[in-house]
Amino acid sequence: MTAPAAHPAPSSPRLPSHCDVLVVGAGPAGSAAAQKLAAQGLDVLLVDQHDFPRDKICGDGLIPDTHAAFRRLGVYDEVAALATPVRHVRCVGPRGKHIDIPGQLSVLPRKQLDHILVRAAQRAGAVLATPVKFEAPLEENGRVVGARLKHGGEQHEVRARWTVLATGAVPAALMAAGLCERHTPSGVALRGYVKHDGLVGRITQLQIVWHPRMRGGYGWIFPAPGGLFNIGAGLTGSHIQSRSGKGLRDSVNLKDFFQAFCEVYAPARELMAGGQLQGELKGAPLRCSLIGARWSRPGMLVAGEAAGSTYAFSGEGIGKAMETGMLAADAVQQGTDDAVVQAHYAQGMRKLKPQFDLYETASHVNHHPWLADLVIWRGRRSPRILNRLSGVLEETQNPGRLFTFSGLTKLLFE
Ligand SMILES: Cc1cc2nc3c(=O)[nH]c(=O)nc-3n(C[C@H](O)[C@H](O)[C@H](O)COP(=O)(O)OP(=O)(O)OC[C@H]3O[C@@H](n4cnc5c(N)ncnc54)[C@H](O)[C@@H]3O)c2cc1C
Repeated sequence: MTAPAAHPAPSSPRLPSHCDVLVVGAGPAGSAAAQKLAAQGLDVLLVDQHDFPRDKICGDGLIPDTHAAFRRLGVYDEVAALATPVRHVRCVGPRGKHIDIPGQLSVLPRKQLDHILVRAAQRAGAVLATPVKFEAPLEENGRVVGARLKHGGEQHEVRARWTVLATGAVPAALMAAGLCERHTPSGVALRGYVKHDGLVGRITQLQIVWHPRMRGGYGWIFPAPGGLFNIGAGLTGSHIQSRSGKGLRDSVNLKDFFQAFCEVYAPARELMAGGQLQGELKGAPLRCSLIGARWSRPGMLVAGEAAGSTYAFSGEGIGKAMETGMLAADAVQQGTDDAVVQAHYAQGMRKLKPQFDLYETASHVNHHPWLADLVIWRGRRSPRILNRLSGVLEETQNPGRLFTFSGLTKLLFE
């Protein structure tokens, strides 16, 4: 007989009128927060506007920080049993040369991954309610004391000691909560799934490609399970405006960008020409570098991509979303004083900032693709540089020394 823990409660219970912590958004950030809070014996309500399993537009690439977070959440084996294991990130420059940076990596579609994480939260005791949409915070004397939610066409008020907002890169909920500092996303990207049995075993890395025809971003191909490949192209720094007031996003059509990727990169061309696209290419925003939102207000913490927890250079954010969710859970345990909880959370977030700054600096490569050729040229000649790049990927390299442009230059030329 299966243990009761394997049978989480259904996802549409009657909404309670109160709970200890309301977690809004059941992506990696929200599920990680809900699991950790429920495991401490708190009464946790986790809500999402979608029923699970649900799709999330993503590259599905899992980097070392993500695997570390899976271990902390006790889901590593469950993920590893389904994911495609990968041993290198392959960086391909405009001249077609590449380096393979070693790391612990894998690929699993978000539909499966997020379901694993949400079930782990339920097993820990969190109550999942879907489809439930956060509309606005409930406030008393400027403090958030819960939220107004929409469920089955009706409005409900749920009171909570703390609310964790983990609603991802679409800023509507952040705006309603009064915590959004920048509406425009930091990046936008487009992805599709293509089935191509002939390329299984040939594309075995997380392949990332830079080229002047994709200035401002990059293209990728990641090998997913079942003969599927996640292929996409993304723009970073889309919030930065030129002197004319236009953002990069206004001047770039993502579909053309993706088309350019297929034209300049032979494996992408082969994949699209010989494989079967599953459904359509779909786009989504990204919020990066821990900027664009306030991290908290009394009674509410913002976790995951809503707080900008995605890396600017590479668009990876699943691992850090889970880490910030766990930080939020840890902060809520710090007592009843709002200021103490908020300060504890801010301290944890600030500790992550140097790594985000490093990736922000590295995103120069997206805007000056010739830099990729330079890094690749250096990396191919020097095992020491390759080791250091692997250290950055594995997060064993102290980013503090690297996050300035001169630090990166030193990495390449010393
Ligand atoms: C095209 C693309 C490719 C990417 N590739 C990668 C990659 O390869 N690897 C990687 O690590 N990261 C990647 N990312 C980034 C990654 O998707 C995010 O960092 C990650 O999803 C953030 O997790 P989260 O839990 O903060 O938010 P999300 O995963 O977005 O989850 C937020 C949840 O909140 C719910 N929600 C939103 N608003 C409301 C509301 N009002 N009421 C109730 N529920 C609500 C949503 O339904 C959703 O389930 C990519 C992103 C994009 C767009």
